Amino acid sequence: MLKCHQVDLHIHSCLSPCADLMMSPKRIVRAAIAKQLDMIALCDHNSAENIEATMAVARNTRLTVLPGMEVTSSEEVHVCGIFRDADATLTLQELVYRELAPGENDAALFGDQIIVNEFDEVEGYNRRLLIGATNLSVEEVVAEIHRLGGLAIACHVDRQAYSIIEQLGFIPKDLQLDALEISAATTFDQAVKRIPQLTEYSVVSSSDAHSLDEIGKIATSLNIEKLDFDELRQALRRENGRSISLRG
Ligand SMILES: [Zn+2]
Ligand SMILES: [Zn+2]
Repeated sequence: MLKCHQVDLHIHSCLSPCADLMMSPKRIVRAAIAKQLDMIALCDHNSAENIEATMAVARNTRLTVLPGMEVTSSEEVHVCGIFRDADATLTLQELVYRELAPGENDAALFGDQIIVNEFDEVEGYNRRLLIGATNLSVEEVVAEIHRLGGLAIACHVDRQAYSIIEQLGFIPKDLQLDALEISAATTFDQAVKRIPQLTEYSVVSSSDAHSLDEIGKIATSLNIEKLDFDELRQALRRENGRSISLRG
């Protein structure tokens, strides 16, 4: 039976240098449940090292956590890849690490990149320059996400920074995006006035939460049968009666 579920498909953990240090797996899961969310995707910048811990925390709760990653392309476009399982995300991570700009993270400048376990204990620090861009073009990022069976969503297309429209000036017609994401700063009706191409795509609204209070600030309603990756994909494609809806 189809039912309406609330999802927030773009949340950062304390692994992202720009995210709050309080964004640990247990706190993220607790905050998402408190916000009445049914499913979230964890999408850290160019890394997935807190994915398994966050999925483990959610395992016996009412919340489903999908593994994901927010990849920065060579043109500085942010694209979220969302996957069926952690293994696919970790395979993407291997490629992203090979293609990431060289250099070490300057924690004093960009923030710490903390790897934590499912008990919210610090396991270590990621030293890579996760805030940097990869050598992968947008086309390559989308192709790799699809090769690994994932969904590719162009992030915060209404924003000035790191959005495909700002960085490229347009959305390439042949780019096989599964959805466009709009931020909490806009409604669909407002966004479509500026970006008419929104009507040609499935559109999700996500919080891009970097702190606990931002989780679920905006969400997407999915009309789906159960909470999993395949149902999300069907909703984005509007298959088998599944659908998405956004506020105004
Ligand atoms: Zn972003
Ligand atoms: Zn983000």
